[in-house]
Amino acid sequence: MKFVIAGNGIAAITAGRAISAGAPGAQVEIYTDEPHPYYLRPRLIQFLAGRLRLEDLYVYPPEWYAKRGIAVHLATKVVEVDTSRQQILLEDRGESSYDRLLLAVGSSPFRPPVPGIGQDGVFTLRTIDDALAIKDRAERCISAGSREAVVIGGGLLGLECASALTTQGLEVTVLQRGSWLLHKQIDQEGASVLQEQIERLGIRVMGNVQTESILSNGSVTGVSLKSGPTVPAHLVLCAAGVTPNTDLAKDAGLEVKRGVLVDHQLRTSAEYVYAAGDVAEFQGKLPCIIPAAVEQGRVAGANMVEPGSATYHGTVPSTTLKVVGLDLTSIGLIAPQEEGYQELRRADRATGVYRKLVLRDGRIVGAILLGDRQRVPELTKLVKQGADVSRYGDSLLDDDFELQAITNEGGA
Ligand SMILES: Cc1cc2nc3c(=O)[nH]c(=O)nc-3n(C[C@H](O)[C@H](O)[C@H](O)COP(=O)(O)OP(=O)(O)OC[C@H]3O[C@@H](n4cnc5c(N)ncnc54)[C@H](O)[C@@H]3O)c2cc1C
Repeated sequence: MKFVIAGNGIAAITAGRAISAGAPGAQVEIYTDEPHPYYLRPRLIQFLAGRLRLEDLYVYPPEWYAKRGIAVHLATKVVEVDTSRQQILLEDRGESSYDRLLLAVGSSPFRPPVPGIGQDGVFTLRTIDDALAIKDRAERCISAGSREAVVIGGGLLGLECASALTTQGLEVTVLQRGSWLLHKQIDQEGASVLQEQIERLGIRVMGNVQTESILSNGSVTGVSLKSGPTVPAHLVLCAAGVTPNTDLAKDAGLEVKRGVLVDHQLRTSAEYVYAAGDVAEFQGKLPCIIPAAVEQGRVAGANMVEPGSATYHGTVPSTTLKVVGLDLTSIGLIAPQEEGYQELRRADRATGVYRKLVLRDGRIVGAILLGDRQRVPELTKLVKQGADVSRYGDSLLDDDFELQAITNEGGA
């Protein structure tokens, strides 16, 4: 049986591993439009900050693929899927037939449609090539003494990029549309604790601002805001979210909404075609995070080998801000909009610690931990276990409360 995978990110590699484990000796062909072997995107931040070398980004040596019978075709874009003939067409005019196909083509950075977004000196960060271009620009700005940079977007990626560029020696301003940073990961009270710490790192944050246009004299010179001053910048990095790469699926006639629709087995609407990772939409959700790409890749790979052998039930969202000296993790539901939830909070500005738990029917369904990395594994377990913690009340937030005692019991 021949398994074909479009894309070479974490969903693709996880599926490839599951296929080779479930069907040893099977032919697995991976096609990617990138010229680089598989790497982990979060490491691009460390690369940008100068903490990792290019060669440290790659995850597996060639033997890893050979041992599993996985052939990777670099710089080979899939341009069409013909579901009736069970074939993919490649940009180089080649083609490949499949018995089972996985679409794991990920997502692309969203570029807000503001004038000047295509100017020289304006970047997004998704790939190694993006990171190389940003790094090169940052180095040239520093040698020219033109240190001002702007990051558009105060989400996880925006703050991580801002921190990396600051480490490189740039003076970074983060432009945030909403009234607080990381509005998907933290509530307003926690964000004010966080913002003080971000500013201590030398990053300037401007909230409630909207970009009007990007100014240039052949190369970027600044960002003009809808209200407020123009912010000078010789490098602009846009981190305004992602859009799933659905074109292949749409053109092939698959059911697509915001992402490619998949069921519990990660099957799309076309026979023998599966989807996983940032491109897949399951029950109206597109988490676009690594834990979802891994779970979906594993389930898709197993079902491609043995239909019905694995089931996907969704992923508890869990994200961590990776900025040196700052620990922020959000798990599950952190800002419920409906009635019936209880929220426990504690903030200590002096130590920069903020904890929030969201409970429903005595069970933790979400948590925010700022400045407290130790509790992350236990709280993640508790959210997954749905353990009843009602009898502990507010003491759950105490520094010396032993969460482990509850998780060891599998819930109270
Ligand atoms: C800098 C950065 C840091 C991040 N940090 C975190 C983090 O800390 N935690 C977290 O959970 N998530 C993080 N993310 C998000 C995470 O990387 C994605 O959720 C994850 O990569 C999705 O995996 P994927 O395999 O679905 O898609 P991708 O990793 O996007 O891989 C898709 C691949 O398909 C290729 N492709 C696209 N179209 C075609 C085509 N037509 N033909 C062939 N190949 C094609 C793409 O080039 C790409 O190589 C980060 C993202 C970035 C950019």
